[in-house]
Amino acid sequence: MNASWGARSETGLVRKGNEDSYLVQEPLFVVADGMGGHIAGDVASSTAVEVITNEAGQADATNPETLAQIVRHANARIFERAEEDNSLHGMGTTCTLLMLDDGRAHIAHVGDSRAYLLRNDHFDQVTEDHTLVARMVREGRLSEEEAHRHPQRSVITRALGVDDEVDVDVSTVNLEDGDRVLLCSDGLSSMVPDKAIAEVLAAEADPQSAADRLVDLALDAGGEDNVTVVVLYVEDGEASGDPEVGRATGMSSAAAAVPAPAAWAAPAERAPAEQTGVVSAIPPRATESTVVSDETPARRSIARRLVVSLVVLAVVAGALYGAGRYALQNSWFIGVNEDGFVTVYQGRPETIAGMTLSEAEEVTALRVDDLPEYVHDDLEEGIKVESLEDAHAAVTNLENRSRPPDERG
Ligand code: CA
Repeated sequence: MNASWGARSETGLVRKGNEDSYLVQEPLFVVADGMGGHIAGDVASSTAVEVITNEAGQADATNPETLAQIVRHANARIFERAEEDNSLHGMGTTCTLLMLDDGRAHIAHVGDSRAYLLRNDHFDQVTEDHTLVARMVREGRLSEEEAHRHPQRSVITRALGVDDEVDVDVSTVNLEDGDRVLLCSDGLSSMVPDKAIAEVLAAEADPQSAADRLVDLALDAGGEDNVTVVVLYVEDGEASGDPEVGRATGMSSAAAAVPAPAAWAAPAERAPAEQTGVVSAIPPRATESTVVSDETPARRSIARRLVVSLVVLAVVAGALYGAGRYALQNSWFIGVNEDGFVTVYQGRPETIAGMTLSEAEEVTALRVDDLPEYVHDDLEEGIKVESLEDAHAAVTNLENRSRPPDERG
């Protein structure tokens, strides 16, 4: 079994920087979509790729769990960096890592970047989106169609770097002659219908041409997000020796454990920037792993993605506020619980499609009825604070405003 591949990443027409990173280093292929503000998103996704590159030698095709382990290491490293540096706080990234083995593709996955498989007339998403809307579709609360248009479709429930541990999905696809595999960030899948993606993969004879056309479709559709694609074409038989196309040729498990130097499927000359609206594109380099991350300094892009950790926290979509992505583990507010007690919550007071984004952290002994009327509305809406310490200070402040028992009606 042979594979040839192509790849392309673009900032798009709206964002100021490219927070996506990708890696093409036979037998490993990665798409990572960072979040947390322009710089932090870059750092998150490129750190994922760095860790994967450094630990590529530990990837063992006979034990796909080794891929999950590498992704967990990437998670730990990103989390560590976010803890060390305040400006990176709350950053995270998706990560879809594919390892080619002889006749198989192993995939380790976290987030809402996707792996797709085109086989004959069937085009299927191989990965499961770790998003709020995907979960609601599985629970029968949203249709696929509604999910695709949902304003909070980018709220993701799992990402690298948000918590010190992460669950990693691992799956294996047995490859067949003619299979076409796509890894992409949601800048493609949210802008271009699956049917159009499948048509390009079916029509293009060359994976780099397919990658280029897919990105062009996303840009033509508005290019609202960074868009990154890695395309792999699988064939039976010997490699053609075409120097323009990287080939993963019949790798044994042993060979796969020690990756060969990356071969790069050199793309055709890129269209000029004025044609694609691209701020900058770093050309792929031969003979080394290619990590694309647009370094253009710019004001923070308007956020659109919120991270929701299912354990304790969530993040509210920037779409709700117009700016900023919030990691819910770092968000606090004061509200009122169902029994009427002032309560400190971790998370955000808003709901998304009826789902709360908060958990009660501390229930105080303070009753809302004992507080002056003018704070009732604020408390019902939720008074946002910066930290748990600020929450405690706010509660103390409220306690001071509560009416003494002898003045209560
Ligand atoms: Ca994205």
